[in-house]
Amino acid sequence: MSDSELISKIVSLCKQRGFIFQSSDIYGGLKSAYDYGPLGVELKRNLAAEWWRDMVHRREDIVGIDASIFMHPAVWKASGHLAEFSDPLVDCLNCKERFRADKAPQVEPGTAVEYIKGGKNKGETLKGSVPEAGYVCPNCGSPELSSERQFNLMFRTSIGPVDPLDAAIDEIADKSLSRKEIRERIEEALRPSAIYLRPETAQAIFVQYLNVLQSTSMKVPFGIAQQGKSFRNEIITEKFIFRTCEFEQMEMEFFIEPGTQDEWLDYWTKERMNWWQKFANSDDAFRARQHEEDELAHYATNCYDIEYKYPWGWDELEGVASRTDYDLKKHMGESGTKLTYFDQQKPDPETGKNGWRYTPYVIEPAAGLTRGVLVYLCDAYREEKGTDADGKEKTRKLLKLHPRLAPYKAAILPLVKKDGLPDIARNIVNDFLKEGINTKYDEQQSIGKRYARHDEVGTPYCITIDHDTASDNAVTIRDRDTTQQERIPIAEAIATVKKRLEGTVA
Ligand code: ATP
Repeated sequence: MSDSELISKIVSLCKQRGFIFQSSDIYGGLKSAYDYGPLGVELKRNLAAEWWRDMVHRREDIVGIDASIFMHPAVWKASGHLAEFSDPLVDCLNCKERFRADKAPQVEPGTAVEYIKGGKNKGETLKGSVPEAGYVCPNCGSPELSSERQFNLMFRTSIGPVDPLDAAIDEIADKSLSRKEIRERIEEALRPSAIYLRPETAQAIFVQYLNVLQSTSMKVPFGIAQQGKSFRNEIITEKFIFRTCEFEQMEMEFFIEPGTQDEWLDYWTKERMNWWQKFANSDDAFRARQHEEDELAHYATNCYDIEYKYPWGWDELEGVASRTDYDLKKHMGESGTKLTYFDQQKPDPETGKNGWRYTPYVIEPAAGLTRGVLVYLCDAYREEKGTDADGKEKTRKLLKLHPRLAPYKAAILPLVKKDGLPDIARNIVNDFLKEGINTKYDEQQSIGKRYARHDEVGTPYCITIDHDTASDNAVTIRDRDTTQQERIPIAEAIATVKKRLEGTVA
């Protein structure tokens, strides 16, 4: 199976089996916006819950928050997002493709290149030379490009009952102004009510640092975690749910003593690598890659990307960044609120006297939840060749999801739709549901087809009720990955599934 085949198979399985749908599908879809269906929402919530469990519930040194998406516009001024959160945008003058300069194919300036006029498949071949910027159009390979301009990725809207356009119209009506002046006037008119959809969850953590510190007894080193939606007006949305304008993040800001950042960066990079690998089939599809100097975000002095080997190659899944005291200092400056930490026990390095007041440094592991869903779908998708009961060749489609991430934990299947088997099965389903174990009753089609259906959506255990069940009070439990079946008493079914689910993670 080729790499592009794999991604298109995953996309079509996701639609057919209710994991992920194109947004507004019946209207032709909204480009690169996706809705999570009944199975996809379970997978996404399971992944988020595992992160929360490991980052917050299983640690004494991290607490969580859930902040609003709208924040005071001053937050984005202080954080640098208004001035710096932009991508270099370039237009191809040959095929009209609009692309990010930093993601374009890099070619030595001056290299002679050939490309087809208009970016078509065939036609007149043109010759050119790679410009000083050192890249060509990713679509047609042309070196004929516009200059770069910075494009801010934040979505801007307005808050309040006044339509800011009225103020903008008043500013420019009946005046003869240049384009530049019109833009400036409109910007000015929009500014008082402008508000932004957050492009990351992190800033809310920095601006609530003091409230969290004062309302809990947290001591440095400690972390504040948050999961939630973020929005970026991406120049190019791509590769299914890999890069979308609306997505979900799982971020944690870990506040530390200045001077300890290297050891904590190392600690969190390893922790996060191990965490992703814990739920994956292939450990070697993950790697930590240190950022080059010119890749670092404006707030970072060091950063490791945890990358996954997607069907198109290595790409980012999570960034673990050393953010120094940049954010707290910026918010202190902008808000005038003291965001420092006082350690009574520690001697001040400058005076040597006990009691040290400092601005904490920060290590940030910032992961994409929706990107994580894509990673585990890629990791889990399998097509296994085998033979059926009649010896015919068949392909078993399998989503080898980690049992704790799987949408359904168990499928309860009466062998036939009669002889009282459905009643016994329904009782078992009810018992599972009462325990909060997401379980699916399924009596449609042959048992083989039902196994296949559940293999395809990643259900780890199928429990079958057959004609012996009424007399021996036992059922068979089939393991998705090995297809091995085992007979167990009905009374032990829940405990068996629970034990297997627990046993799958450290
Ligand atoms: P990229 O280099 O892929 O644009 P980034 O370095 O800008 O990502 P961060 O700002 O570090 O990303 O955000 C942390 C995580 O949030 C990323 O590792 C990724 O998993 C996720 N993420 C960022 N942008 C998007 C997006 N547009 N769609 C989906 N997930 C995203």
